[in-house]
Amino acid sequence: MFKSIIAQNRAKKIIAEQIKNNKIPHAYLFIGEDGIGKKKMAIEFTKILNCTINDYAKTDLGACNHCAACEMINKDAYPDLHMINFEKQEEIPETEGEKTKTKLGINLIRYMQKYVYMKSAEGKWKIFIIEPAEKLTIDAFNSLLKTLEEPPEHTILILIAKHRETIPTTILSRTQTVFFQPLPKDEIIKYLIEQHSISEESAIKIAEDAEGSIGKAETLMLNTQNEYATLWKELTRKKIPTVDLLEKSKQVSRDRETAISVLDMIIENAMKSFRKEPEKYIDIIEKLSEHKIYLTRNVNPNTVLDNLFIYINSKIV
Ligand SMILES: [Zn+2]
Repeated sequence: MFKSIIAQNRAKKIIAEQIKNNKIPHAYLFIGEDGIGKKKMAIEFTKILNCTINDYAKTDLGACNHCAACEMINKDAYPDLHMINFEKQEEIPETEGEKTKTKLGINLIRYMQKYVYMKSAEGKWKIFIIEPAEKLTIDAFNSLLKTLEEPPEHTILILIAKHRETIPTTILSRTQTVFFQPLPKDEIIKYLIEQHSISEESAIKIAEDAEGSIGKAETLMLNTQNEYATLWKELTRKKIPTVDLLEKSKQVSRDRETAISVLDMIIENAMKSFRKEPEKYIDIIEKLSEHKIYLTRNVNPNTVLDNLFIYINSKIV
């Protein structure tokens, strides 16, 4: 169960036992940093409860992931799964005047309550994911409290927040808190390599700064890629004075891992050019692979990139 969620074994165990024993609380509070699997867990939970092939109470299999219900949930199109968040607040007419990016207002909760007390569309479980719960106004929390006091059958509210202290005690006492932990570095490295096919060296470097969050790791990865993506274009567009080439090289070779990420991006872009004009780029591709080996050995990264930048620029322009 919950195979698609990385780590979080304690959270998985708590929820899995409640499902198996059919003792599912009406409301949860998922606590933990951004990008560590809280929302993913809420969605997986919704699938397990609503899957029309695997019966949640009798199986350890989890959701089948291909029945109509699972597919709709995957596409965010399941009528009994409601996201109560800033996007919803932007969308719906009920929240006119509440269209702010800083607080989730009472009208959003009133909108939600209409669906809470309505019959479920698919006849199974209705799930409401409220995120970020710490952004609810006092009025919104008070209104939500009424729902938590008289929850309808087969309805689950999942509040998602970073810190438990930000939630009023009246709400805390009516929700089951589940803590989510920052992810271990090796899990983040594995995820980045498997899902984004980046090199192990770059993955290690990103995981160092990701503070246990996949979300943060992906943002760091994209920023790095954007920053370096233009380098190949710059190096091959026009003749650059050597002094400027050396300055560019210096900026991106502050350490071995960064230099490797830069070289990976250059190789990726060079391969695109090579596929279009193999003859023009064959020598450069060979040079790049050769320098990649130098970087993984003990050669000074700055020296490697100096040589490479000068070579590419002189060869192409
Ligand atoms: Zn299914």
